[in-house]
Amino acid sequence: MPRSDTTRGGESTRACEEIEAEMWGVWSGDEELAFSEHSRSTLIERMIDKISVADKTGCWEWTAATAKKYGYIWDGDKLVRSHRLSLRLALDAGEFDENLNCNHRCDNPPCVNPSHLRQGTQRENILESRLTKLTEKDVREIKSRYRKNDVTMRELGEDFGVGQPAVSLIVNEKRWGHVSVKCE
Ligand SMILES: [Zn+2]
Repeated sequence: MPRSDTTRGGESTRACEEIEAEMWGVWSGDEELAFSEHSRSTLIERMIDKISVADKTGCWEWTAATAKKYGYIWDGDKLVRSHRLSLRLALDAGEFDENLNCNHRCDNPPCVNPSHLRQGTQRENILESRLTKLTEKDVREIKSRYRKNDVTMRELGEDFGVGQPAVSLIVNEKRWGHVSVKCE
């Protein structure tokens, strides 16, 4: 029997065993994790219990405790964000940087699929922190002024103290997409 092609999302529902085997493979980074209570394999077993795989997107969605959409898990030592732990388990020793953000390429906060995650650079971290400083009111004003075509992204970036890259993400609906402006 031919092996089902998982890249054409939605066409096939893979067997649980196959998905679990993939997770064990992905989380085989060689970093020795020093947790006080949980061994690496216990952690992986607990993670697998809390994940549901979305056929279409390939997202590994966290079904257990979340806060602000991000999953959390007890790592044996402390409560950690599950997507961070997932990426840490997938990387080899020394590759995970505790000081960097762990960003979703899929824009789906509950997702813990390591291939949808990457650690942000310092520059990206600054961009993220600028984006979170803005209020909905700011975002509405940015979108509305940009639509009127009398101002550039650079000028808006200067006015709001967030820089052009942040404005670009907003006006292209890559961020703050839920904040809409009325058409005038
Ligand atoms: Zn995802």
